[in-house]
Amino acid sequence: MTSAANQLDLNKKRAAEWLLLLFFLLLMSACSDRNQRQLSTFNGSIMGTVWSVKIVATVASQLTESAVNEAISVELQRIDQLLSTYRENSELSKFNRIPSTEWVAVSKDFVQVMAEALRISQLTKGAFDVTVAPVVNLWGFGTDGNINKIPDKDVLKQALERIGYQKIEVDAANQRLRKLIPEISVDLSAIAKGYAVDQVALSLEKLGIKEYLVEVGGELRAKGNNLANVAWKVGIEVPTPQLRQVYQAIQLVDEGIATSGDYRNYFTIAGQRFAHTIDPVTARPVNHSLASVTVIAPNAMQADGWATALMVLGVENGLAVAEQQQLAVLFISRTADSFNDRATTAFSRR
Ligand code: FAD
Repeated sequence: MTSAANQLDLNKKRAAEWLLLLFFLLLMSACSDRNQRQLSTFNGSIMGTVWSVKIVATVASQLTESAVNEAISVELQRIDQLLSTYRENSELSKFNRIPSTEWVAVSKDFVQVMAEALRISQLTKGAFDVTVAPVVNLWGFGTDGNINKIPDKDVLKQALERIGYQKIEVDAANQRLRKLIPEISVDLSAIAKGYAVDQVALSLEKLGIKEYLVEVGGELRAKGNNLANVAWKVGIEVPTPQLRQVYQAIQLVDEGIATSGDYRNYFTIAGQRFAHTIDPVTARPVNHSLASVTVIAPNAMQADGWATALMVLGVENGLAVAEQQQLAVLFISRTADSFNDRATTAFSRR
């Protein structure tokens, strides 16, 4: 075989090797493209507020945005239909209208949220109390709409007889609730948005999504890392009405965060602020210098409930209870011309 023939074979062999290499390179890049992490953002409105969800997933996950959006919306609608006092035919509204002290079979979701609500009530000696609904309405912060005036003393006194977390019982094992007086009614606004966040997180995980940041009306839950492959970062706001400014940024590592405060939902009369966090003992909006409380907890439901409870208790009593419960909490109080803050040990150690 002539040298020309050898050279041709060699060239063919080299060309084949180059083709093979090119093929592998293309395959590699296709694989790396398929494993490339991508950020998708979803948002909408629910529960009188807004929601947003960020997920990081790879092309290989083959998840369509419409499937993810559908899963989120279906879950939010489901929770809203169960736990809203703003929906006439929700499970909660129907329960509130039952004039009986018999056991009532309810959904797993309703029982779970009620069990956590009563646990926080016990640990805060009633500062957190979801049966405060009638008083919330009298002050114009509930489904009856705004009133912007101080309710009549006697009407408030009568309403006090219709509240008390000890007047409602949960039987979690048999998924049922019982009122100990027929007039009891429940408002889950302080805890159910956190629960909705946790349920959306669960539906994302069922789709195989392991990295996400879910938010409903300021309550959040994070899992895994953001697109830059570091823990999700969220901001605790400066507690002033119009301003949207970050007071402190927080990294969330597979946990929930929620803030309660007096700077969004309030009215003022003669310079005094009346906000939507109610002291169930006095039937009046809490009146102290605390402007906001931010709680970080294993899930968003706990963070949401505790934030309202500690907002009722105020800085000193709140700090004592939060330390006892080893909660990570930041209390921001108003001063004459600015703010100062106190943090629990668990928060300072983050
Ligand atoms: P948080 O501090 O988390 O909760 C404060 C709320 O808790 C108060 O507004 C009061 O309702 C209640 N509360 C006050 N004091 C106490 C206490 N001592 N213990 C326990 N609870 C207390 N709003 C609308 O305007 N339209 C809607 O259609 C609507 N639908 C909703 C559906 C659901 C399922 C939920 C959970 C809430 C809904 N809301 C709706 C209410 C709204 O989303 C907010 O929850 C509400 O405005 C409270 O805001 P927050 O989370 O900032 O306050």
